[in-house]
Amino acid sequence: MTLSNVLKQNDLQKSGVGGIIIDMDYEPAENTFENQRHKMVEQDLKGRGIGEAGVLSAMRRLAREEFVPAAYKSQAYADGPLPIGMGQTISQPYIVGLMTQELRLNNFCEVLEVGTGSGYQTAILARLSKRVWTIERFSELSAGAQAVLGRLGINNVEFYVGDGSCGWPEKRKFDRIIATAALPEIPQTLIEQLGEGGIIVAPVGESGSQELVVGVKKEGKLIERVVCGVRFVKLIGEYAFEE
Ligand code: SAH
Repeated sequence: MTLSNVLKQNDLQKSGVGGIIIDMDYEPAENTFENQRHKMVEQDLKGRGIGEAGVLSAMRRLAREEFVPAAYKSQAYADGPLPIGMGQTISQPYIVGLMTQELRLNNFCEVLEVGTGSGYQTAILARLSKRVWTIERFSELSAGAQAVLGRLGINNVEFYVGDGSCGWPEKRKFDRIIATAALPEIPQTLIEQLGEGGIIVAPVGESGSQELVVGVKKEGKLIERVVCGVRFVKLIGEYAFEE
């Protein structure tokens, strides 16, 4: 017990709370969000081969519980996706880590994200790149994400409500593109907005079962590689799935 704690106990006794013994140094193995976050990084990310220091530190710092609805807060660090409303889900932490790692971000990257959802992946991208442009189909979800990112002081993000399968509504190029919902194939609209040497990461395949694809743009064409099998909600749009 430290001197200051002894003094605090004495003060308590002096103030009439005598008889209660409080050991201020006692730290129970609490199930705090911080402890759960630490466990998530160690077991679900590092334990499965996510090794990129920036990704691990961003996910160790970001309060995932801020991005899930109140009813699911106690499960915020569960090893799986969770409902966020409008029939959509916040992705499993491991998948967020894996996709972010595959993007190979740096402080100079300008990133397009299709499928803002809860804004959790958006926040991780924002902390690891220069600026993020994110598109969401549902204004309710975009508004929620904007509110959380605002509260967390993350302000290098541009939000747009619309069909992300068409790309960002203004003509521009991005260093990185990520789709957080499944695409039947990577649409030309997104390939066009990817700069030369840029990287795109997206779940590609059928509704209910896809492959996580990483594409690098070389001489105008995508060189693709498959990372693993995944299951995402469908991207609904002109160059994606029909509703
Ligand atoms: N990264 C998000 C995952 C959200 S799920 C998170 O961590 O919370 C995928 C999101 O893509 C959903 O919010 C869904 O509404 C959105 N979406 C589906 N089709 C879209 C489209 N054409 N354009 C933009 N967003 C779309």
